[in-house]
Amino acid sequence: MAALAIFVSCSKNHDTPYDISYSISFEPEEHYINVKMLYAPLKPGKEKVTLKMPVWAPGYYIIMDYPKYLSDFEVYDTSWKPVKWEKSGKNNWVVDHTDTLDIRYRIFADAMSVADSRVTSEGAFVAPNGVFLYKDTDHPVSVVISLPEGWEKISTSLQFHEGAYQAANFDVLYDSPFLIGNHLTQSVKQDGIVYEFAVQSPQGFEESPISKDFLAGVREAVKIFGDTPYESYHLLLLGQGPGGLEHQSSQADYTAGSWDFKTRESYLSMLRFISHEYFHCYNVKAIRPVELGPFDYDKEVYTPLLWFSEGITCYYESVILERAGAETFQEHLDFLAGYIKDTENTEGRKHMSMRQSSYDIWLNFFNRSANSSETTISYYVKGPVIGFLMDLQIQTISGGTKSLDDLMNLLYWRYYKEKGRGFTEEEFWAAAEEVAGGSLEQIRRYVDTTEEIDYDSILEPAGFHLDKESWTLTASWN
Ligand SMILES: [Zn+2]
Repeated sequence: MAALAIFVSCSKNHDTPYDISYSISFEPEEHYINVKMLYAPLKPGKEKVTLKMPVWAPGYYIIMDYPKYLSDFEVYDTSWKPVKWEKSGKNNWVVDHTDTLDIRYRIFADAMSVADSRVTSEGAFVAPNGVFLYKDTDHPVSVVISLPEGWEKISTSLQFHEGAYQAANFDVLYDSPFLIGNHLTQSVKQDGIVYEFAVQSPQGFEESPISKDFLAGVREAVKIFGDTPYESYHLLLLGQGPGGLEHQSSQADYTAGSWDFKTRESYLSMLRFISHEYFHCYNVKAIRPVELGPFDYDKEVYTPLLWFSEGITCYYESVILERAGAETFQEHLDFLAGYIKDTENTEGRKHMSMRQSSYDIWLNFFNRSANSSETTISYYVKGPVIGFLMDLQIQTISGGTKSLDDLMNLLYWRYYKEKGRGFTEEEFWAAAEEVAGGSLEQIRRYVDTTEEIDYDSILEPAGFHLDKESWTLTASWN
């Protein structure tokens, strides 16, 4: 197979004192990405240049240590003479420079996660955080990709013009993975916006109603906000493997590998999964805790609010699908009852609050210990329960005039659109009580402490009943 070249170059019309351009080629059989980076200062000088690689990817709350995949780092000047460099810490390369630098390195790309690059003879998934070094994250960058013989498609959310994929800065580049190869692509225009499904294992995809049901859910999500925070949206569906990762204008997911679902349950599970990653384009990418962006890529970023960013997203993945008619109201109730049951059956709920679960995710995401289920509880389990109860509480307090939708809408317009920043924990609770028109102190206790949840006190006034023997949820009008 011929080599694939990717060129990254930055736009010329900005006020930064240097330009950066990259070219990347692949060794598919050996699973390597060969990187060439050109660093061109507008004014040559003698100061050293520090180039950095992120050690984690936003949304994937674990230290990835991407630099461990980097090898054969070499730097040359314009005369092709080697330039001295040295490491400073695990993810910094400090280079002596006087003029334009030609920097080369290799990335081993054979890990199977949505936050890692993977190169095979079939194609490439490029997770940018572990490939592109930056000097300053607030610097424009663009990517030119030339396809090798036999590879025909590039799917990414980056805008393409003048022969290059353009990103306003490295935050955008790092938030824009690429799927390259011969995958199936299906583009659908809905309400003036293009949604591209890029499917690496397409078996059964085109016959499945999943893209139609997904887009029906999208329309319901957009209604909540009255706005879309992307120009186009791409689903990079990578075949059999673990997990998914949200981005502002895309998502990358390992999927079941086949779209020929045998049961309603497995179909709904996948539909909710991609709807969850989609809803993150609002909740965590747009509506976000103040700690989550701009990011420090050098180390862990702590926030007590992931129960909201993740847990409420879990809640809405089913809400929007039920509103869209893609799942029934009973399926939605069963979905919620399942989380209530899992919460009540987890001993760790007595030892860890949702607030603490959020803060300590860096310790508990993948690296769980033998006693984790006794001492911890995931915001993916109790978070959607809180979301449901909070929604009901807002509806009850406001006399049915407001709901969680109104809070989501307020946070989107006030903080993302008007202030252009995330919210603090106190700003979040103030906004929630402003929408409800009363105290949400009971809900906050269920977030901040390990107090046992009094379900009946919230469910019954809202017309719901929880049977704690069978863990079933019913609505009085259903
Ligand atoms: Zn999520």
